[in-house]
Amino acid sequence: MTSIELINPADETVLRSVTHTTLAEVDDAILHAVSAQREWAALAPAERAAGLRRFAAAVDGAVEELAMLEVANSGHPISQARWEAGHVRDVLTYYSAAPERMLGSTIPVAGGIDVTFLEPVGVVGIIVPWNFPMTIAAWGFAPALAAGNAVVLKPAEWTPLTALRLAELALEAGLPEGLFQTLPGRGDVVGERFVSNENVRKIVFTGSTATGKKVMAGCAHQVKAVTLELGGKSANVVFADADLEKAAAAAPYSVFENAGQDCCARSRILVERSVLDRFLELLEPAVAGVKVGPVTDESTEMGPLVAKAHFDKVASYVPDDDQVAFRGSAPTGPGFWFPPTVLLPTSRTDRVVTDEIFGPVVSVLPFDDEADAIALANDSIYGLSGSIWTRDVGRAIRVSRAIESGNLSVNSNSSVRYSTPFGGFKQSGLGRELGPDAATAFTETKNVFISTD
Ligand code: NDP
Repeated sequence: MTSIELINPADETVLRSVTHTTLAEVDDAILHAVSAQREWAALAPAERAAGLRRFAAAVDGAVEELAMLEVANSGHPISQARWEAGHVRDVLTYYSAAPERMLGSTIPVAGGIDVTFLEPVGVVGIIVPWNFPMTIAAWGFAPALAAGNAVVLKPAEWTPLTALRLAELALEAGLPEGLFQTLPGRGDVVGERFVSNENVRKIVFTGSTATGKKVMAGCAHQVKAVTLELGGKSANVVFADADLEKAAAAAPYSVFENAGQDCCARSRILVERSVLDRFLELLEPAVAGVKVGPVTDESTEMGPLVAKAHFDKVASYVPDDDQVAFRGSAPTGPGFWFPPTVLLPTSRTDRVVTDEIFGPVVSVLPFDDEADAIALANDSIYGLSGSIWTRDVGRAIRVSRAIESGNLSVNSNSSVRYSTPFGGFKQSGLGRELGPDAATAFTETKNVFISTD
């Protein structure tokens, strides 16, 4: 296939087709990136910082345009899509401070001075999924550019439109040609070429754990650096002493936002057995209250699934009403609409409890005590995010330390802030994105000893 026809997931209309990048074009783009990177790295740090601020300003001027592209291409509700575009601007602004703060060390040694430099790795290949096409891309490209690298970006086949526009905006903002290129195409062509091309010195991959393992194995051949942000099956742990009203009101949004297509989705709600009935009584109206509907409506909170193939995968986890406790609503007619669905699995090993469904489906499971809650939360190959609801500060700290996960929140379900590190334990990933150290992750430390003899 040399092109893909993009389908609006909310109504199944054809948007446009996008031509795939060929292998030869990928190699050319990478060569172009190599020379653009040299030009970029040779600029004064303050000039690179100014370039990133101009890029942020260009994104700011295009927030509405980018949001509308995401609404059409990915089926995101407009208010969410506007937030995403604004987040890209904010991530660029945050990392625009980095070029002038890439600090090395001075290390006391005998016979001279010893200093370290944080050198850019060169060309960075970023491979992103379809669930948050522009925000996840920005988590890679903003710190990578800030550290003096060039970027080639492969969007997911289904959702390339915002990534293509962002590369245009970089040019409009005056960044050197070739410094930031979006190369749409297939994962097993463009993505694999990023991994196998020796001029790409680091891969940032976000997507499924299965593909992440392949990418990591491919990087091993060239000892290529790799950051992986993979799947999740995060736990929302509700203790009996929690503010149950608040926990239940917030729970739907921790798993149904973006129609559950979120690696941080709290798709297992673990509730202390003594308050399970009360919690479910509170959860049912909260789920019914999630506004699922027209994606251009400002008040819509959840849109459709991204594609028919993905809809079929999610639906296969709920073949009948067997384990369904209750559901929310969803439009009927065209579009890949799936209602928010709450399951009460009878077994802790059911595949709805263990697999990343990546749709608006949540399992509620009871636990007996703190030790059982921790064991159940950790009974997963994943460890990306999670929440702990309790009024007991000591327990909040004990459980936060005991859960094997990269991003936890107490009495809150918030996972992502551009100023704090993000990433997974176990098979949820390798390395961290965002936060104050992200640009450093796109550098090699060089040590130089200068003799005073
Ligand atoms: P993938 O992991 O296959 O896709 C993620 C990205 O990797 C896409 O850009 C894809 O390209 C690319 N890719 C695919 N194969 C290769 C390869 N061999 N080498 C390099 N890049 C490659 O995810 P899927 O889209 O298939 O989603 C499957 C499931 O993965 C979901 O249902 C969900 O459970 C999970 N997932 C988790 C995400 C997360 O954020 N943690 C994000 C997305 C999915 P292309 O689009 O062309 O396939």
